Amino acid sequence: MTRPQQTAYLDHAASTPMRSEAIAEMTSLMSAGAANPTGAHKLAREARKVLDRSREVVAAEFGADPGDVIFTAGGTEADNLAIFGVVEPGGGVAVCTSTEHHAVLHPVEHLGGRVVPVDQRGLIDLDALTATLDSDVKLVSVMLANNESGVVQPLDDVAEVVAQHAPNAVLHSDAVQAVTWLDVGQFVSRFDLVSISAHKFGGPQGTGALIARSDIELTP
Ligand code: PLP
Repeated sequence: MTRPQQTAYLDHAASTPMRSEAIAEMTSLMSAGAANPTGAHKLAREARKVLDRSREVVAAEFGADPGDVIFTAGGTEADNLAIFGVVEPGGGVAVCTSTEHHAVLHPVEHLGGRVVPVDQRGLIDLDALTATLDSDVKLVSVMLANNESGVVQPLDDVAEVVAQHAPNAVLHSDAVQAVTWLDVGQFVSRFDLVSISAHKFGGPQGTGALIARSDIELTP
């Protein structure tokens, strides 16, 4: 697909054009050939080095440990892994807001979870969240920035309410839309699970990560 030069592309919330550095890096790696990074031969070990280095770069960018970075096939897979990885059908309650991306909302609905409304400004209703929480809640997912309105949720307040009222809950945030605009790293330290997606900030489509605190048990 080529974009006519006079076209102004203004839909970066949907997907950003790849940065030339990312295209160059990918082209170089793909031209070098593919190898299984868990293998023992030379090419496999080189692939492993690339993977490890990539993990370190992502971890440093978001203030995480390299071991906490789980690469995924994009934001949708990161969100699904966070939710289905923590809550099994019939094994606890998942909670999210009504304005989550479908990559969060549909898994939570599939699990029969609880959906918290937002107010007229699009901000999570913290009283409704409080009323929803109890010791059965295993996961609370609240996005950082909304993909349609740009509304930034008060995640510090969410974290506080969850800590008080849902002692068994893991906190997840879909930060997919926030990376270009906010310091996502500052939230990574306060959340157990954070989803990001590369095609929202100049990387290739179909790549992303779930940053998962190492003590959080995730079922693949
Ligand atoms: N979460 C949010 C907030 C999004 O805006 C998007 C994509 O539009 C996704 C998740 C899904 O990400 P991906 O396209 O990488 O699967």
